[in-house]
This record gives sequence, C-alpha cells and structure tokens, in this order.
Amino acid sequence: NVNAYQEIKPENNFAFDDIGGQTIAKRELKEALDFLINSTKISQRGIRPLKGILLTGPPGTGKTLLAKASATYSDAVFLATSGSEFIEMYAGVGAQRVRKIFNTARTKAKKDNKNRAIIFIDEIDVIGGQRGSNGSHMEYDQTLNQFLVEMDGISGSDINILVIGATNRPDLLDSALLRPGRFDRQVKVDLPENDGRLEILKLHTKNKVLAKNVNLEEIADETYGFSGAHLENVTNEAAILALRENAKEIDHIHIKEAIDKVMLGEKLNNKTKN
Ligand code: ATP
Repeated sequence: NVNAYQEIKPENNFAFDDIGGQTIAKRELKEALDFLINSTKISQRGIRPLKGILLTGPPGTGKTLLAKASATYSDAVFLATSGSEFIEMYAGVGAQRVRKIFNTARTKAKKDNKNRAIIFIDEIDVIGGQRGSNGSHMEYDQTLNQFLVEMDGISGSDINILVIGATNRPDLLDSALLRPGRFDRQVKVDLPENDGRLEILKLHTKNKVLAKNVNLEEIADETYGFSGAHLENVTNEAAILALRENAKEIDHIHIKEAIDKVMLGEKLNNKTKN
C-alpha cells in the first residue's frame, strides 16, 4: 500500500483561534502562509517561495493542530502523515510513498480548483535522520533522497506546495533538510506559559459544565510544565470523575484529582521509558 497518508478535509475548519497560547508560533506561521497565499506577488518581488516549515518542540504542544489550522487559514488541500509511515522492510517502498504523497497533493489541488496544498509530516526525524549515520540504512537514505528531490521540484509546478514538518528532535535531522530552499523556517512550539495554559483550559472546558468554585486561573498556575495534551487530559478526567459521582457539574475537587492523576500517569510513563 503506497497511500501512507490521510486527507483531512478543510470542512473541519479548525482555526488558529481553536489553539490556546502559542502566540509566537501562530504569528510566524501566518506570515509564512501569507507568502503561500500571495505567491504571485511574492515571486514578482524576486523572493523565492517558502517550501518548508519545521515545527519543533515537546510532544503534545499543538504542532499537529497548528498544521491543521494552517490549511484552513490558507484554504489549501491538506494531507497529513507521519515519518514512520514511510518506513517499510521492502526496498524502494519509502521512496515510492514520498512520490505518491507529493503527486496526490498536486492532483487533489487541481481537482479541487485550488492552487495550493500543505503536506504535514509528523515525526519527520524518522525519515530525515542523518544519512550514513549509525542508525541509518540504505532504505532510509533512499527515502530521504526522494524527499529532497520532491522538495526541490516544488517550484517547477503551478501548484504551490508547502511542507510542514514536526519533530521533537531537530538535532537528529540531516543538514541537507535544513538548507535554504528546503525547511528554511523553524518555528518553536514550546510548553505553554501561564497565559497559554489558561487559554487551553478555557478552550477544553467550553463544552463542559463547571461549578462556581472552579477557578481556571488558579489551575493554570498549578499546572506548570503541563503540555496542551496534558491539560486536555485533565479536563477530560475531571469530567469523568464528575460523571462517576453523578455530579451535575465539574467541581474544583474533580479538577484537583484529575491533575494528580495526569501527573502520576506521566511519572509512571517516564519510569517505564528509563
Ligand atoms: P506530538 O509531538 O506528540 O505529535 P503535537 O505537538 O503534534 O504532539 P497535538 O497533536 O497538536 O500535539 O496535540 C494533542 C492534543 O492536545 C490536541 O488534540 C489537543 O486536544 C491538545 N492540545 C495540545 N496543544 C494544544 C493547544 N495549544 N491548544 C489546545 N489544545 C491543545
């Protein structure tokens, strides 16, 4: 099977406003996307098109969400995949899958009467690791080579393609990927600060009933070091606890308990990893 990607329809209309915090990342992305939207104007000014943006940062901070929102913002065809989807035992399959996703992006964009597409590759370090390094072998190197060929070929087409890659290990990437004309923009997606945590908590409790004693500001203060994914988990666990007690509303106590639960889960997780 060479279809190692998922097409996400823009009808989802997931927007930058649905993402909490990450103000700087959003601003940098929007600027880059304005290049994609106004590509003709940009090339008339002699600026070369932006082909790749690399989102870097810890897991669960919203990199996938930012890529999705980018597609909505720029009204582009959106294809999403992960680096691990390109890895197969059989020689040549990875390279074939790379060709396929770029071709599909072009065909889909034409069919939908759009002149742009975004390809999102999570865990790009899996295919973008340093060639010739210890962990690398021929099949990985071929996949990466094909990927570089496709990125270099982007500007030869009438469809503008932007590749958004995500990784929490940018240090592992082959320097060829970071050369100008490839991933020439890096956007940091860090753990949220206090304000960001509050925004994320607000977003994820929008559809839940909170008791009057719930103070989200206080919760944001107490969840230093939590990612967006952790915070989403806290709100979900709190809702489950409330349900278990047949309570009509989520109480402060439920949230406190949920925080403990998520923290404990994280600790156990780290233990098994070490
Ligand atoms: P990974 O590196 O593990 O792929 P990621 O950075 O791509 O992680 P996402 O998949 O974007 O993380 O986020 C996972 C989930 O966590 C989201 O579906 C959402 O529920 C929640 N989340 C993470 N960050 C945010 C945020 N900034 N605002 C709102 N929700 C968030």
